[in-house]
Amino acid sequence: MDKYDLVIKNGMVVDVKDGDIKNVNIGINGNKIITLTKHNIFGKIELDAEGLLVSPGFIDVHGHIDGHLECGKLSALQGVTTTIGGNCGGGPLNIKDFFYKQDKDGFIINQAQLIGHSFTLRETVGINNPYISANRDQINKMSDILKKSFEDGAIGLSFGIEYAPGSSKEEILLLSKIAKEYNKVVPIHTNVNLPRDLTSLKDAIEISKKTGAHVLISHFVYQYGTGIISEALDLVDDARKHGLKVSVDSGMYSAFSTFIGSTIYDESYIKKFGWKISDMLVATGKYKGEHLTKKTYDELRTYGKDESVICFAGVEEEIYEALKKEYVMLSSDTGPSPSGKTSEGHPQNAGTFPRFFRKMVRERQELSIMEAIKKCTIIPARTFGLKGKGVIREGEDADIVIFDINKICDKAKFPDKGEPDAKPEGIPYVIVNGQIVVKNSNIVNDVRSGKCIKDFPACNI
Ligand SMILES: [Zn+2]
Repeated sequence: MDKYDLVIKNGMVVDVKDGDIKNVNIGINGNKIITLTKHNIFGKIELDAEGLLVSPGFIDVHGHIDGHLECGKLSALQGVTTTIGGNCGGGPLNIKDFFYKQDKDGFIINQAQLIGHSFTLRETVGINNPYISANRDQINKMSDILKKSFEDGAIGLSFGIEYAPGSSKEEILLLSKIAKEYNKVVPIHTNVNLPRDLTSLKDAIEISKKTGAHVLISHFVYQYGTGIISEALDLVDDARKHGLKVSVDSGMYSAFSTFIGSTIYDESYIKKFGWKISDMLVATGKYKGEHLTKKTYDELRTYGKDESVICFAGVEEEIYEALKKEYVMLSSDTGPSPSGKTSEGHPQNAGTFPRFFRKMVRERQELSIMEAIKKCTIIPARTFGLKGKGVIREGEDADIVIFDINKICDKAKFPDKGEPDAKPEGIPYVIVNGQIVVKNSNIVNDVRSGKCIKDFPACNI
């Protein structure tokens, strides 16, 4: 009798390709799904998934984990088996070295990496002022590094135009054109320069129009969930209707977080948007959990530039409005705090995926189980060309999350209200490349079965 390395029995297996849920047992050998069968099968390890959904592992298309293990664990506990890093124009410069080190040390989930423009490439070619444009020579240098990064396995080119508002159209378009030549996705953190204004979104769509690149608008609700989400979604709908490759990802919170030294927290910017310093919550460091005062703002802007501050700028209902759209993918925007401690930061790092299923499927019933799971699995896999990911099918990678749709629940809180890294409930098992990394809702120590994803046939939406 066949004996598999791992068998998942009696579960409700989510087939995102056919759009149905099947009562089959899954046999896994090594890192691959070998069989899906109604017959009884046996394994060296057997998991009983009676009453539980057995879903393809979640793919988080927008993160800043970039090899940070503790942050990776918070994602694994949520059911994330693949994260895409290097977003918003940041992240590691040398993709080859990054992958080498990650493969050598091992990581808990799979990682794909974008190469960032606004911090990474610009700083590498000597641009230290976010308000100036790259010159011709610097653009050429960035182009060379970009090509090399793609050859080394970068999954796309990310922009954080808001963090480098001086970036010229020329530099953005030239680099995006190269991404198109390599058939890579271009995630853009848009430059929301004025309140209730959609010019930045039109500019991002224009990049796709002019270069043919597949543009992904990052953390959409953080950009446009400020009372203008309907108009913003209309623009994306229209672009897609005209055949442009424009995708969207969005999270489950209306309050964004970024480092206080960024251009977004310049006094002129805060004033322009009508935000109040006293409404902003320090997420990391010695003032964690406190609202900003003029004194702490000045101090951190000078001596604590990397500390995270949360800005409550959004409208909660607009989160749901965006995620109801069939093409909008779920993303967390997770990333480590400057100290590396997970007990500080934004609750998105530990709560995004369970919150999505709790709110949108169970409580608000705005998405079916199938619709919700597709946004975290097959749609991201297709967008980025992640081969073997996002589906439970024979021959594909054994990345699987097992959860209880009646119990799945986020426990993470904003740092003035509780623990931002509190573990979710209702997600008993997470399997990465055939290895159990979360068991009984706890991290299994020392399992490092995540892989770096370096080759993909390229995006195919
Ligand atoms: Zn961003």
